[in-house]
Amino acid sequence: MTILDGKETARAVREELKVRAEAFKAAYGKEIGLAVVLIGDDPASRIYVGNKVRACAEVGIRSVLKALPADTSEEEAVRVIEELAADDGVHGILVQLPLPPHLDEKKLLSRIPAEKDVDGFLPENAGALALGAPRTVSCTPKGVMELLRRYDIPVRGRRAVVVGRSAIVGRPMALLLLNADATVTVCHSHTRDLADITREADILVAAVGKPRFVTADMIKDGAVVIDVGINRLDGKLVGDVDYEGAAEKASFLTPVPGGVGPMTIAMLLSNTVEAAERRP
Ligand code: NDP
Repeated sequence: MTILDGKETARAVREELKVRAEAFKAAYGKEIGLAVVLIGDDPASRIYVGNKVRACAEVGIRSVLKALPADTSEEEAVRVIEELAADDGVHGILVQLPLPPHLDEKKLLSRIPAEKDVDGFLPENAGALALGAPRTVSCTPKGVMELLRRYDIPVRGRRAVVVGRSAIVGRPMALLLLNADATVTVCHSHTRDLADITREADILVAAVGKPRFVTADMIKDGAVVIDVGINRLDGKLVGDVDYEGAAEKASFLTPVPGGVGPMTIAMLLSNTVEAAERRP
């Protein structure tokens, strides 16, 4: 079994992005800019935002952190996003989710221009992917595809099963695999005989949000197993796949942590560099 090392792969991606960020600066006399809007004081969100800001610095992307208090009014949040939208030095805007409950996520995100939507969450970008002509793609599934590509794992013609259908992971994951000519099945909480389906997968992606949900008996011998899940269990981070069991069956397997997670942040940087190159 080969471990799909997301940490190392993300490092390689960042090195390449650094070169592109330097070339951008040389060509346009300014840095690539990513704005991160953080509203409230959710501890996990703070950690994620901190990681993103650090990763930006590593590749030479200028990050602009807009940290707003939890009781920020919708009006004020919209004003901040619209200001960033109009700022030529900002190529990407990310609004850290979840938002405090009094704020309307759809409404706020809709103020981000599609070309600055580096999370790929807006209908314009999700729709482009669904039509088979992707523009900015959601970072986590994009990171999974990049991991497969860099390990020379073929996708075309293979059976892929995605467990989970969320707008930010499962759905775009299935579409990317479909666009790459896999035969794709999407499973969710109403799927019957789940294990019968997952056992058919040459490529199995778990994005369920339940610790060690995918067990060895659900995996075909030699399958490529991608574990997107990040769950806290007894103070430890574990994925949606039972790693030890899966390691007995899989040909390739992502660890948690150190698999898909680092690739997600690398793809955020990649989306930002692409956005800047498209509209300097
Ligand atoms: P959601 O909770 O939005 O979606 C979970 C999906 O799993 C839903 O589609 C749900 O089905 C499905 N599901 C739930 N129970 C079952 C079941 N018993 N059988 C089959 N399917 C089931 O989660 P996300 O997609 O946002 O995230 C999934 C996991 O990935 C989480 O652990 C999250 O922390 C992690 N994550 C990791 C990232 C990374 O960078 N590595 C980034 C984003 C998320 P239904 O639609 O029917 O409810």
